[in-house]
Amino acid sequence: MAAYEYETHNYDVVVVGAGGAGLRATLGMAEQGLKTACVTKVFPTRSHTVAAQGGIAASLSNMGPDNWQWHLYDTVKGSDWLGDTDAQEYLVREAPKAVYELEHYGVPFSRTEEGKIYQRPFGGHTTEFGEGPPVQRTCAAADRTGHAILHTLYGQSLKQKAEFYIEYFAIDLIMSEDGQCQGVVCWKLDDGTMHVFNAKMVVLATGGYGRAYFSATSAHTCTGDGGGMVARAGLALQDMEFVQFHPTGIYGSGCLITEGARGEGGYLTNSEGERFMERYAPTYKDLASRDVVSRCMTIEIREGRGVGEHKDHIHLNLSHLPKEALAERLPGISESARIFAGVDVTKEPIPVLPTVHYNMGGIPTNYWGEVINPTASDPDAIVPGLMAVGEAGCASVHGANRLGSNSLIDLVVFGRAAAIRAGKVVDPEAPNPELNQASVDKAFERFDGLRYAKGNIATAELRLELQKTMQADAAVFRTEKTLAEGVERVKAVAAKMDDIHVTDRSLIWNSDLMETLELTNLMPNALATIVGADARKESRGAHAHEDYPERDDAEWRKHSIMHVEGNQVDLTYRPVHMDPLTSEEDGGIALKKIAPKKRVY
Ligand SMILES: Cc1cc2nc3c(=O)[nH]c(=O)nc-3n(C[C@H](O)[C@H](O)[C@H](O)COP(=O)(O)OP(=O)(O)OC[C@H]3O[C@@H](n4cnc5c(N)ncnc54)[C@H](O)[C@@H]3O)c2cc1C
Repeated sequence: MAAYEYETHNYDVVVVGAGGAGLRATLGMAEQGLKTACVTKVFPTRSHTVAAQGGIAASLSNMGPDNWQWHLYDTVKGSDWLGDTDAQEYLVREAPKAVYELEHYGVPFSRTEEGKIYQRPFGGHTTEFGEGPPVQRTCAAADRTGHAILHTLYGQSLKQKAEFYIEYFAIDLIMSEDGQCQGVVCWKLDDGTMHVFNAKMVVLATGGYGRAYFSATSAHTCTGDGGGMVARAGLALQDMEFVQFHPTGIYGSGCLITEGARGEGGYLTNSEGERFMERYAPTYKDLASRDVVSRCMTIEIREGRGVGEHKDHIHLNLSHLPKEALAERLPGISESARIFAGVDVTKEPIPVLPTVHYNMGGIPTNYWGEVINPTASDPDAIVPGLMAVGEAGCASVHGANRLGSNSLIDLVVFGRAAAIRAGKVVDPEAPNPELNQASVDKAFERFDGLRYAKGNIATAELRLELQKTMQADAAVFRTEKTLAEGVERVKAVAAKMDDIHVTDRSLIWNSDLMETLELTNLMPNALATIVGADARKESRGAHAHEDYPERDDAEWRKHSIMHVEGNQVDLTYRPVHMDPLTSEEDGGIALKKIAPKKRVY
């Protein structure tokens, strides 16, 4: 192995990732007086959060009656009763506070006539515990909400003197012999130097792994690096079989058209011009939850009612909406439709198709963001020194299916919660941990092995093989046969990692090597997804199993826990937290309000 020299940096907290979750955590940690570094492989405002369009959910009641209990009910139902209720209650109760904080930090929200934050309807968000009409709960800055949040949080983090390490790629976690996280090993992409961050707390905020699939709305940087690092450290992933397909990715490019488009009055039609969602979801129609709408679209296409030459997609209609509303509320998607589909939304429908959009699964945590590594004797065992927030984490508020606009709120609520917790458990006066040199060396060995990899398969080729396999076998609809074959095929793809070939051996701007490191992260995420899906013999949320079409609470209301080693996945289960944080006597929700029932919209 080549000898790698490195610089060591000491911090109280190191946050890996500068998307909405990473920046909210960074800002909060710095505000707590903790010496905080934020490490990111792309410039902060280029993180995938910048692409979030539709908005952020909070029961502000600016546009009509709303309250946290209705939001909780919708989130529990949306999750198809797989979410942890304590975390879900924490999310919806803290949501208004977290949004007002964003407003005060300077997020330029759209406004109502009276100057309040504008809110739009989104799928699955209702009134009266699912009995009333849709609610306007999603706070928006036009259709560029993520952009507005990210820029504001970055500015605020700089103001609080958080230190940024930009275009640093985190390779692996540093773990002590007794399982405490002590820091992270990084590679500086623009000059090839190596860096070891020693920290009392590491926060993984590395985003999702949408790029394990061929067609995804997520950025090319969404490669599940946090999940990869955690798997290599011998820690758990959770509920990875639940992958959200967004109903309206632009046909061909996968570029997203926000659900806000349907929130503002857009609707879907098939080749007969029929508004088919009325048939499947009589009450909420085009605003049923995402898994439901994606499945209905897939059924229409399968039954021969798709549009276009190959009858393989669906139309999203916006042309009946007033031009001013489109220009004011949906300017970004009007532009995307023009660029990526050549469509003028004021005149023609947009061709759309369900596209991979969000990972409900991730690194398991409690509602303070502390990573847990469940054991048989302690399903909630905490990993000292490690937190995970945002799409990389799994608290688990989204369970088997996430509601639209519930992710941005998850980023800020749990980014903030992690900071509050760190303020209690991290002592700025205490010395930094003495690093486990064996763990540091192991990270460099792995890096060096990939840098000089002399196999026969190029990274781009193997990645494509993985993406096509996942797209075909871990899709909107799943069967016993496709899943069993999928497990074998993904394992075969993963086994080829040993035969990878890296052409560029340099250390400066070596995208070949960086993409290879990313592929080593996509692999464990993909393996856990397909193995978890194959094992789950029921249908729940985004996991629609054709051979087991019903949800089976008696057997399957439990979290999947995956430990991935090489191309093997050790699968165990962990109980769902069914109790809310607050009892009914203390003003909490009545348990009967959120008791499991059939999920219809
Ligand atoms: C097109 C699109 C639109 C969406 N719209 C909405 C919406 O309207 N409302 C809503 O609630 N949700 C929406 N979502 C979902 C939501 O935006 C994402 O779940 C969320 O932004 C993820 O944020 P994050 O902070 O977890 O990660 P990201 O924003 O993906 O950021 C990840 C960060 O980690 C860093 N990183 C990753 N790996 C490494 C590494 N190895 N080393 C160093 N740094 C690393 C990256 O540089 C980046 O800074 C949308 C998603 C997409 C794709």
